Amino acid sequence: MTEHSASGKLDWVTAAIALGGNLGDSHRILLSAMTAIDQARGIQVIARSPLYKTAPVGPPQPDYLNACILVETSLTPRALLQQLLTIENQFGRVRQERWGARSLDLDLLLFSDQIVDLPGLTVPHSRLHERPFVLIPLMNIAPQWPHPIFGKTIAQLVDQLSMTTPITGVERLD
Ligand code: AMP
Repeated sequence: MTEHSASGKLDWVTAAIALGGNLGDSHRILLSAMTAIDQARGIQVIARSPLYKTAPVGPPQPDYLNACILVETSLTPRALLQQLLTIENQFGRVRQERWGARSLDLDLLLFSDQIVDLPGLTVPHSRLHERPFVLIPLMNIAPQWPHPIFGKTIAQLVDQLSMTTPITGVERLD
């Protein structure tokens, strides 16, 4: 099947990626990671959200910085995730505990309208719809993107989430 990205490139598709970190100079690390993603073969960054300061979930730890980007890619979902994990490692990700502090966390949120359920790869990201620190930055750059499983746009998912839990602790920088 042939697909087109948002800008019409044949066999390139649009994907959404979340970035986060709370160890080291997170501002510099997130911006450098965006550049590294843009420079990777078969990936081009087409939109970036502002940075957001967000309250940590899980064990006590420093606030996070979070952001989302849209990319166009000729890679498969598996190859794109592999590239993201390579970039995480380049930025010296240290992960002592689940949910614990990390220098860089990259998540593949959405890959065109595809649903992928493979060992080590779930797209849409399984917690995308319940995480304000992902949904709010994503809404900044892709409010109308429909979630392929729930059929609701990102803006609608934010509305739905805010009806059950007031969204706090997500502060836009700049
Ligand atoms: P975490 O530390 O919570 O970001 O988990 C990272 C692990 O989750 C990676 O080793 C991936 O294999 C797995 N994973 C499954 N689906 C995804 C996804 N959509 N984006 C990022 N990591 C994923």
